[in-house]
Amino acid sequence: MPRVAFIGLGRMGHGMAGRYLDAGFTVAVWNRSKAKADDLIARGALWATSPEDAAIDADAVVTMVADDEASRAVWLTRDGAAATMKAGTLAIECSTVSYQHTLDMARELQSRGLIYIDCPVTGLPEAAAAGKLTLLVGADPADLERAQPFLAPIGSTIRHFGAVGAGTVFKLINNLIGAVQIASLAEGVAIAEQAGLDMKLVAEALGTGAIASPQVIRHSKRMIERNFSGASFTAALRHKDADYAVRLAETLLPGVPVSRAALAAYDKAKAHAPDGDEGQMIEIVSRPK
Ligand code: NAP
Repeated sequence: MPRVAFIGLGRMGHGMAGRYLDAGFTVAVWNRSKAKADDLIARGALWATSPEDAAIDADAVVTMVADDEASRAVWLTRDGAAATMKAGTLAIECSTVSYQHTLDMARELQSRGLIYIDCPVTGLPEAAAAGKLTLLVGADPADLERAQPFLAPIGSTIRHFGAVGAGTVFKLINNLIGAVQIASLAEGVAIAEQAGLDMKLVAEALGTGAIASPQVIRHSKRMIERNFSGASFTAALRHKDADYAVRLAETLLPGVPVSRAALAAYDKAKAHAPDGDEGQMIEIVSRPK
């Protein structure tokens, strides 16, 4: 059976690693805090003492960590995965990282004879645990072909955007639009509250009208109820994505005032509750000035 090293067992990575176990792969796991691996170990995963340890004899190493800094740490530090990966091994980055980081990692890992693809994802943690993520891939077509067996357990849809980095470009644009939607939704909900509208009716109208994206449906209800239990995506991660996206935009389409406004709003939401749900933006918008 193929052997996969899975690194990063947070909300998303935990479910994704479980999918490889369900598919019968030999799975070595590592996470900065070990407790998140306990039930995966009980299901047959092999605990590794470091990313470097996890990568020994792996056919593919898959990472799902928070940001550029975490990604660099798990691939390239002294006990990073690259240290023990054999030439020709697949390096699959599923974390949402910056475009520049993707290019830097590709150059660094390819210079060691490794095959690097960027494969950020869309989908909530439930989709991750069910193998129903959409995978946004940047890769040489032949490398994507080789990676297919390692993508099938985690994704139900693969969108190949082009060369390495292209998957990340789309992911950052996608999440930037998401940041704008949520920040704008928070303001709309707060204005409706101030106007004294029937908020049950507002929720129903928002959730069924022309602007009812899955994101608006999910967050309008949670914002109106001020129910942020079971956060799927934190304000800190949304801010990180918007920051990376605006940095990318600066190289392509300077200005982007709407995107910058959403980034500034998420700067505040992150300061307010970094590990809170991204929808807690409403608490910033509606609090007395
Ligand atoms: P999360 O629950 O906060 O997990 C973050 C993971 O990164 C944890 O395994 C954490 O380790 C690890 N990590 C953070 N800093 C690290 C460092 N310096 N060194 C090593 N490991 C480090 O986040 P998540 O929601 O699973 O998101 C993971 C990635 O998926 C992010 O890039 C996010 O933007 C992306 N994403 C998330 C969603 C979503 O709905 N949640 C959807 C699509 C994409 P510890 O457990 O030790 O803290």
